[in-house]
Amino acid sequence: MNHCFAGTWLPGLMLTVICSRAWSADPLPGPANPTPSSPLSFSQVRLQGELGTRYVATTGNLLTRTDRYSLESFAASAAGKPGALWWDWPGDQIGRWLSVLHVAEGYGWTPAAWPRPALAEVILPHQTREGNFGPPGSAPSDDARIPSGNAFALRGLMDAYADTRDPRYLDAARKLARYLEAIAPKWETRREGKLHEFYGHCLDGLMALAEQGGDSGAQKLAERLARHAGRTSHVHHSLSLCRGLLDLARVTGQREYLDKVEDYLAWCREHQIVTGGLPENLPKWNQDEGCALGDWIVVNLMMYQLTGAERYLDDAEHTLVNHFFMNQFHTGGFGHRSFSEAIVGGKDWQGWKGQFGSENPGCCSLWGQWALGQVGRFLATSVADTVRINLYPSAEITFPGRGLRLEITSDFPRLTKARIRVQCETPQSLSLALRIPPWCRSMKLKCDGQEVEPPNAARRVRVSRTWNASTLIDIQFVTELRVVPWPSKEPKGMAVFDGPLCLGLSSEAADVDLPWAVLVDADGRLVLDREGRPQVVEPSGRIVKTLEPISARWLTPDVKNPARKRVLFQSPKVQ
Ligand SMILES: [Zn+2]
Repeated sequence: MNHCFAGTWLPGLMLTVICSRAWSADPLPGPANPTPSSPLSFSQVRLQGELGTRYVATTGNLLTRTDRYSLESFAASAAGKPGALWWDWPGDQIGRWLSVLHVAEGYGWTPAAWPRPALAEVILPHQTREGNFGPPGSAPSDDARIPSGNAFALRGLMDAYADTRDPRYLDAARKLARYLEAIAPKWETRREGKLHEFYGHCLDGLMALAEQGGDSGAQKLAERLARHAGRTSHVHHSLSLCRGLLDLARVTGQREYLDKVEDYLAWCREHQIVTGGLPENLPKWNQDEGCALGDWIVVNLMMYQLTGAERYLDDAEHTLVNHFFMNQFHTGGFGHRSFSEAIVGGKDWQGWKGQFGSENPGCCSLWGQWALGQVGRFLATSVADTVRINLYPSAEITFPGRGLRLEITSDFPRLTKARIRVQCETPQSLSLALRIPPWCRSMKLKCDGQEVEPPNAARRVRVSRTWNASTLIDIQFVTELRVVPWPSKEPKGMAVFDGPLCLGLSSEAADVDLPWAVLVDADGRLVLDREGRPQVVEPSGRIVKTLEPISARWLTPDVKNPARKRVLFQSPKVQ
């Protein structure tokens, strides 16, 4: 069977195509961005503060659990036999794990790489003659879990190859790609004429094979499959598929791939709730999924990178600091929480007889780590003579080619202020383009203690000067407590926001099923108490003032029975 595909994969021919970035037209939907920069590499970034703590917690939750993720479990995942958490998605755990190691090692945790050779020894012998992990002879199978798990395996093998340059990973990835090509006719139009998202999220692995392995056949297959990509229901797999479309857009310069991703994001936005959360399946589902939220953030960050359009950053930040942070448990892992427009966060699906509560360590805890790690790569971007600061969590960022180092210290995620130390090895002129978040009324700026009034574009403050050894920039984000009618077109209620953070009423403090109202004045503005707190009112008239950010309590050990949070309130205007 394999010889049918001999000659399809021709390594070494891709370099010139890959290196050309001739954008055929202005990317959608933002302004022209003819020179998209690459995301930072992990080694350029050191995460600190809240984001750093969450990242370390989610990474520790995986790499210290050698009992849960044992070598035996990886062998079971490779064979598609009981013994791994999602063993019936063959190759899934392997692929995600190798991608997790890629992130962990990239950030400088060198011991993370130590178990990788032993892992290769136990998984690679299970790859079948047809090229897949799982049962031999499964190419004709209608079980969509088999190609889905294998698609994650392909991506992970290429991440392992990027880390090690060990040809065994590349060889295994090539065999796997041949399997995916062999089964393509079964899946490429299987979702009502559209590419099946369970299979279609192999695109990013195929593109990694094209870019790193020089396999032109892999890119040809990706281009062929991408033609059928469309609005498919499972959000995680569909957004993972979108990442592959964005790789295609970046490599080919073709706008059609961006259009497809924008169309999928638009569909997501139609069903998104005020917290930035998405259902596990579109158009409706009763729970969220950590994997889908992580992919939503990364796809939006990638879209920003390629188009320069600020709305993608806005959407990524909004979901990151609200719904995604809420989805993280005290274990560090991610999973599923109940999902509706007005009340989120409670107990829903709990697999494996509730052993892990609402955490899903079979996929979401792995993909959540991957996504949190990816966020660091988009904190800042460097294009020509401009460095853009996109997000403001505490972090150190270095640009070795420029002899430039940025140290951000902030109270992220609430973000009332941030301090950026700009250090240059030698004096240099460049512009810092500081993002003005949409939730912020204005930004005040000081350079080395002196107030400055730089040119203030709609969405960026640009500070252009010759930078000497060390400069301190102090930023104050001027914000206020406010209500946000939701949905914006035909509001059913009002959410309360403090800066970027969505506030909620917890089931630990009140009966959230009652139709709570929020006190607003005739102009629709919040009526605050003497301490400046918003006030929500029970139908009985009882006033409660204990709203807090929905993401605030992630260290509470309630993974077995997580609190529900009301996020939409009635108001005199909408009652
Ligand atoms: Zn998941």
